Amino acid sequence: MVVDPGMDDAVLLAGLDAAAVAPEAVDTVFITHTHGDHYRSAHLLPNTRLLCSGPEQHAWWSRGAPDKELLGRMVPTTTGIAPGVRMVLTPGHTPGSATLLVAQAGQLIAVVGDAVDSLDFFARREPSHNAVDPEAERRNLQLFAGIADVIVPGHGRPFRLEHGSPATEL
Ligand SMILES: [Zn+2]
Repeated sequence: MVVDPGMDDAVLLAGLDAAAVAPEAVDTVFITHTHGDHYRSAHLLPNTRLLCSGPEQHAWWSRGAPDKELLGRMVPTTTGIAPGVRMVLTPGHTPGSATLLVAQAGQLIAVVGDAVDSLDFFARREPSHNAVDPEAERRNLQLFAGIADVIVPGHGRPFRLEHGSPATEL
């Protein structure tokens, strides 16, 4: 499974190679939100289902359905994605932005898309600059601070939290 394949084909291929996963072996792609920098390289993954949140699919349609050839096969999903992997709606950056919560080795990893731009944004509790609803985004930041052990932000290295504050970049 890949979350947000991004838009740099070489980066995605290098990441899959490092994980010893062939592009053909990826069977699920989850898109946190429908901004092009988060999904365009999905075209490299021929055998995937393409999942998103229902509200995000609706928002994408209302924006005129950009990249329809690729995103037209998106399927709106509910909370359970895979064993140990759940989706929660975290609107704010876009109307239907979603976060995946992954339970692994007793830790909760939050893969948040652009609900958190980077460690610095999180430390300042600062919403992404193009958020459609900055107040909702601030509530998301509080939520993550309360529940996550590790945050994978949209535009920076993953980082570990201690007592709700960023502690270590991973
Ligand atoms: Zn975005």
